[in-house]
Amino acid sequence: MIERLRAGGVRDEAVLTAMAAVPREEYVLPGDREEAYADRALPIGSGQTISQPLMVAIILEALQLRAGELALDIGTGSGYQAALMAACGARVISVERIPELANQAAQRLERLGVDVEVVAADGSVGLPDRAPFDAIAVGAAAPRLPVALARQLREGGRLVLPIRSGPEGEELTRVRMSGGTWTSENLGPCRFVPLIGADGYRDASPPSGRPGV
Ligand code: SAH
Repeated sequence: MIERLRAGGVRDEAVLTAMAAVPREEYVLPGDREEAYADRALPIGSGQTISQPLMVAIILEALQLRAGELALDIGTGSGYQAALMAACGARVISVERIPELANQAAQRLERLGVDVEVVAADGSVGLPDRAPFDAIAVGAAAPRLPVALARQLREGGRLVLPIRSGPEGEELTRVRMSGGTWTSENLGPCRFVPLIGADGYRDASPPSGRPGV
């Protein structure tokens, strides 16, 4: 997998070391362990996926984490990306909107001895009472830049997220806070599940138990 990440353009040795250290097979469904090192997204239940390793590595590289930094991971899912951010030396808080996934990820991370705090909440608005953050990573696609997230960056902070760029895809985007203003860079096309919440997409699932609503 590491050679494929290098071939895919990942150069940061700290990121490659973290990717080699975190066992992806622990974060996929039991029946998919054999597939864990294929370079593709895999189902994790609740209609969600663990992201493709190359995409996670590209996000990690773009975050430029330094040891001891406070980082927010939005869209915990399996907990894989949060574990990688911790392996890069960051203090990580991870937010997941689906309580069942948040619980499973918290238990998994604890069992694996990974020090990440998991919060079940809508991460599209960030985590204002824990801000500011040195780095924020979003593992789900936003319809537009969620302004609350940019506001929760510390001076020198980086926000990396996929933003919808057309009907069929997203653009991975890095927003940097410097000198009191934000600058934004496009890092390339990507494909993610939607960020659902107050500053994301509306929940597309049918209302349950409320016929006619
Ligand atoms: N980073 C994850 C990938 C998970 S896929 C991993 O390494 O496994 C994206 C996740 O974002 C899903 O679990 C989805 O439920 C979650 N999500 C979507 N909208 C969200 C929101 N507003 N706040 C928090 N999590 C959200």
